[in-house]
Amino acid sequence: MFGLAIHGGAGSLPRAEMSDELEQRYRAGLARALAAGYAVLQDGGTSLDAVTRAVTLLEDEPLFNAGHGAVFTLDGRNELDSSIMEGGTLQAGAVCGVTRIKNPVLLAREVMEQSEYVMLSGAGAEEFAASRGFQFVPQSYFHTDARWQQLQRIRSGDVSLSALTISHIGTVGAVARDARGQLAAATSTGGMTGKTFGRIGDSPIIGAGTYADNRSCAISATGHGEAFIRAAVAHDIGARMRYGGRSLAQAVSEVVLTELPPLDGEGGVIAIDRDGEIVMEFNSEGMFRASHRAGSSPQIHIYRG
Ligand code: ASP
Repeated sequence: MFGLAIHGGAGSLPRAEMSDELEQRYRAGLARALAAGYAVLQDGGTSLDAVTRAVTLLEDEPLFNAGHGAVFTLDGRNELDSSIMEGGTLQAGAVCGVTRIKNPVLLAREVMEQSEYVMLSGAGAEEFAASRGFQFVPQSYFHTDARWQQLQRIRSGDVSLSALTISHIGTVGAVARDARGQLAAATSTGGMTGKTFGRIGDSPIIGAGTYADNRSCAISATGHGEAFIRAAVAHDIGARMRYGGRSLAQAVSEVVLTELPPLDGEGGVIAIDRDGEIVMEFNSEGMFRASHRAGSSPQIHIYRG
């Protein structure tokens, strides 16, 4: 039973700012990434290749807060974080604070497969990228007018839209189980709008924003990164399954609906277990999400119900 789930961020999506036309564009972006990742699995490919493919497309889609379309730091730059993990070997790779890499998820995977390290940051990560023949893009590649306007609203002290809310709408991720039973997860983000001091959230942190273990599940998270780090969200869900005998649905619900709210941890996760069960849960108003399991039809949702 193979399957794939993807997300494009979670938060309190201001419905007033979500027109029908914009909603259709979000749905189309999710549909394209889902179909591309699912095709990898259908052709007998690995879960690692499926999540890499899906996240790469989401990074390329300007609507989402990752790659092209990432949010801006307070001083008007883009600093990107990503991570990836493979559930059979527990191999993992991550990059944080990179500024010139078109697809950070590809660099995270390169760190996993071609270095002796798990996580590389900033200039060092880019030095590694250069040594591996990665192409660099100028900062202007990441620019979108919508994100730039959001930064101006934050800079002007507009409280109708919090820095977190607008960043949550867009972080991307994918989890998959392939036909051989291998699990994988990947996450990519521009972080939080208006961030300062080289702030890094949960997305590139193995065990917080991303985790995969064939003995339990694969997780990609989106939400208020500080809370997700403190709650070790992605690892905790798998641990509840392994040590506590919980089902995937129970473990996800305990962490997302019980553990996170007292920490002001708004957001959600997508998850797939070793049997190919998929759970997508959030404690916010909505989460851009989509899934496709072998033998059933693709699902795309934003709000509840
Ligand atoms: N978790 C990401 C971060 O804190 C943001 C998000 O998912 O919206 O950087």
